[in-house]
Amino acid sequence: MTKLDKGLKAAIIPVTPFQQNCTLLWDSETMVGAVVDPGGDLEHIEAAIAEVGMKPEKILLTHGHIDHAAGAKDLKEKLKVSIEGPHLADRFLLDALEKQGASYGIPAKVVSPDRWLNEGDSVTVGGHAFSILHCPGHSPGSVVFVNEAQKFMLMGDVLFRGSIGRTDFPYGDHDALINAIKTKLFALGDDYMFICGHGPGSTIGTERRTNPFLV
Ligand SMILES: [Zn+2]
Ligand SMILES: [Zn+2]
Repeated sequence: MTKLDKGLKAAIIPVTPFQQNCTLLWDSETMVGAVVDPGGDLEHIEAAIAEVGMKPEKILLTHGHIDHAAGAKDLKEKLKVSIEGPHLADRFLLDALEKQGASYGIPAKVVSPDRWLNEGDSVTVGGHAFSILHCPGHSPGSVVFVNEAQKFMLMGDVLFRGSIGRTDFPYGDHDALINAIKTKLFALGDDYMFICGHGPGSTIGTERRTNPFLV
C-alpha cells in the first residue's frame, strides 16, 4: 500500500496476463475512492476493495487498451458507479474490447464511459482534485490524472520507470508521445511521483535524468 500525504492512499493490484497495475485510490478519513483501470481479474480487485475497506465512488480509465479497460463494464454494474475517462479519441478501442478480448483470451466487454475527459478537466477522488492532461501517443485518447496538492499522478501507459509507452499499436504516435511527456509532464516539476500501468512507479525527476528514451 502506498501512503501519500494528506489522506490519500493507494493500493496496486496487478491484473490480466499483462500484469496491469489496477489501482485503488481513496481518502483515508472517509474511505471513499476510485478504482483505476480495472482491466480484469475482478475477483482480485473486489477482494482488495474489501480488504482495505474502501467505498468505491467511481471508476477511472486512463486509456482504452484491453488490459486497462476490459473489466470496467462488469465492475461498473457490480459497484453501481460511473466511469470517467479516457479521452473520446480512445472510443474506437473501447468499442473493440470484445473483439480484442477474444484474440487475447481475456474476458472483455465493450464499455462507454459516463464522462469523456478533456485537457484541463477536473476529476475528484474521495474529495481530492485531479486535473486532466491529454497525452496522446501510446493511444490517441490517453489521459494522465494529476493531483497538484500531493504532487501525484496516475500515469497509465504514457511514461514508465525507465521506459515509455509502446507506439506500435494502431494510431500509436511516437513523436506525439515524446512531445506530451516533455512539454506537459516534465513541466509539472521533478518532485511529482507517479503510479504507472505496468511495473514500479517513479518520479518525473528520475525519468527526466535517467530514462533512456528521454535523455
Ligand atoms: Zn496501453
Ligand atoms: Zn497497459
